[in-house]
Amino acid sequence: MEKVFCSIVGGGVVGCAIAYELSQKYQGIFLFEKNRYLGEEQSGRNSGVIHAGIYYKPGSLKSRLCVEGNRLIYRFCAENGVAALRIGKIIVATNSDEEQIIKRLLIRAKRNGVPGVHLIDGAEVAAFQPGVKAVSALHLPTTGIVNAATLIKTLAKLARMNGVSILTQATVSGISVREERLEVRVLYGNGKEERFLSEWVVNAAGLYSDEVARLADSEETYKIIPFRGEYYYYNAVSADLEVKTNVYPAPVLVKVGTKERYDVGVHLTPTFGLESDGRERLSKRILVGPLGRVISHKNDYQTGRLPPEEFISRVQPFFPVLRVENLRLEYAGIQAKPAHTDDFTIKRSRIHPHMINLVGIDSPGLTSSLAVAKFVALLFKDSE
Ligand SMILES: Cc1cc2nc3c(=O)[nH]c(=O)nc-3n(C[C@H](O)[C@H](O)[C@H](O)COP(=O)(O)OP(=O)(O)OC[C@H]3O[C@@H](n4cnc5c(N)ncnc54)[C@H](O)[C@@H]3O)c2cc1C
Repeated sequence: MEKVFCSIVGGGVVGCAIAYELSQKYQGIFLFEKNRYLGEEQSGRNSGVIHAGIYYKPGSLKSRLCVEGNRLIYRFCAENGVAALRIGKIIVATNSDEEQIIKRLLIRAKRNGVPGVHLIDGAEVAAFQPGVKAVSALHLPTTGIVNAATLIKTLAKLARMNGVSILTQATVSGISVREERLEVRVLYGNGKEERFLSEWVVNAAGLYSDEVARLADSEETYKIIPFRGEYYYYNAVSADLEVKTNVYPAPVLVKVGTKERYDVGVHLTPTFGLESDGRERLSKRILVGPLGRVISHKNDYQTGRLPPEEFISRVQPFFPVLRVENLRLEYAGIQAKPAHTDDFTIKRSRIHPHMINLVGIDSPGLTSSLAVAKFVALLFKDSE
């Protein structure tokens, strides 16, 4: 049995960010990913938005790690050649009820320490993003977009350069305490099994983080509710369809599990395209979504996909130029919504202080990933 310093379960953006962060200080780190490629689940199927941090309860982990993660991600991307652009965002109000919602969000933005958020009127909205109709909007200058696939690849590359072993088609199938360490059982795609005696285990298994927590402690009560978000896209073939910023509706409160939380709603998000010079720039492909709902299975991306009319009915109130015939079917992603809280959970397991569970890292987990990694690294430091 191989003796290692740390086993990380899950090769999404969070697992990769943790591997990179820890690798700057420690050796003997292994990352296990059950799929063939890194980032095939939540991390590769999202809006790619670098959130500013205004939706989350003041003082929550989400609010703190999102605001810090926003700052860290722009810096990391600039230093490492990852496409990220601070294109801003508007959250539009189309009537007086929605104006009340965005005014409440402005107060929350201030309490969360989000820089630069301010109200603009309908004329300013139209000047900022032609085609958008609103009575007013919140403008968030620190929101942006990132190419999540390139971010994950870069984090993994840097982690590998620092000595991390990243194994794919490697499913963690058991975790138990042995000789005061944690024995991690890994089942490979070729049917072989291997055991790693780890000083630390980090559970960054996304949708399966509740199940991985229970591999170690059968009494663990975490429950992840799969929440599917579906997308369409359109190509901005004419100037009136062009969108250069993130355009979001006023959010609505939805209940998932026992907790109410803001659903950001169907929004318009510009994406990156690869140019002939090998550089990534804003493309004409605009994401429309996600339209979200609870589903029964953690890996059901297709059953009962919603028709384009559902998306148009949500977007037309603020972007009337968009038509059903513009929309093309795009991917769906499934968020890991925790039933027990609307916040991130990052906690030591009861069975061993060196087993750390990250449960319910749903949105804004992409934005927060580098800050989450620093938070986890501090738990390692506290134990030294
Ligand atoms: C539709 C949608 C839109 C979103 N939009 C945004 C956004 O715009 N901005 C933002 O900041 N966030 C957004 N998010 C949230 C963000 O994508 C996630 O918070 C983030 O990707 C979580 O990363 P992760 O690494 O924790 O999880 P994941 O990416 O799900 O990675 C977990 C990994 O663990 C692996 N795994 C599971 N069990 C095992 C096991 N037993 N052994 C080995 N490997 C295992 C899985 O295969 C998976 O690859 C969105 C999410 C969705 C689904």
